[in-house]
Amino acid sequence: MKALVILVAAGRGERMGADQPKAFLAVAGEPMLLHAARAFAGAPSVDGIVAVVPGDRIGAAREILAGVRKLRDVLAGGERRQDSVLAGLQSVPAGFDGVVLVHDAARPLVEVALIEAVVRAAGERGAALPVLPLVDTVKRVRDDRVVETLDRNTLAAAQTPQGFRVAVLHRAYKHAFRDGVILTDEAMAVERLGEEVVAVPGSLRNRKLTTPEDLAWAEALLRSEE
Ligand code: C5P
Repeated sequence: MKALVILVAAGRGERMGADQPKAFLAVAGEPMLLHAARAFAGAPSVDGIVAVVPGDRIGAAREILAGVRKLRDVLAGGERRQDSVLAGLQSVPAGFDGVVLVHDAARPLVEVALIEAVVRAAGERGAALPVLPLVDTVKRVRDDRVVETLDRNTLAAAQTPQGFRVAVLHRAYKHAFRDGVILTDEAMAVERLGEEVVAVPGSLRNRKLTTPEDLAWAEALLRSEE
């Protein structure tokens, strides 16, 4: 099964406290966006990469990604994550009937094996995403009071890339936008239609880099591998 990836990088990344969008920050000397794009270029099932970036960064992103094989386009994102994903989805050629992957550029250390596992599961079953078990006990908290303890054995943290047969994602997005739903990931749009989403094992390396501490962790990891 062949795949196209929508690499979403149009968020402002305010939690990072930096003066530029998060995906443009360097990890070990190169922007996160470039690390992520290269990982997908190295995945055998991936045929094309579309990067979605802030409208005023299209030129900068084209320069950063100039040497990346399989790069198809660099597009302007939208206000919400789902608007950025929609921009990417609308660029998928009408005749394509493989898997569409959506990946956070803020997860620059994603491994090829994980990408391939998601493409395989999504191709066979319609929709798939990587998950990690929770290590902490999870509480529902309101103001400063614990309301309840959730059973962590039934919970998991969702990662990207999330993969979908293209028709599944089109249908799920059409319904979500029609119903005015705010999506925090793409699988949520499929789940709410009652359709199957397969969970495959995620990876610690594929952590979302959100804070300066996360950046330092990624730098140290890459340095240790040099
Ligand atoms: O904010 P958060 O970390 O959840 O963002 C996840 C990913 O979605 C990031 O890679 C970010 O650049 C992207 N995003 C986007 N367009 C937005 C908001 C977030 O492409 N409007």
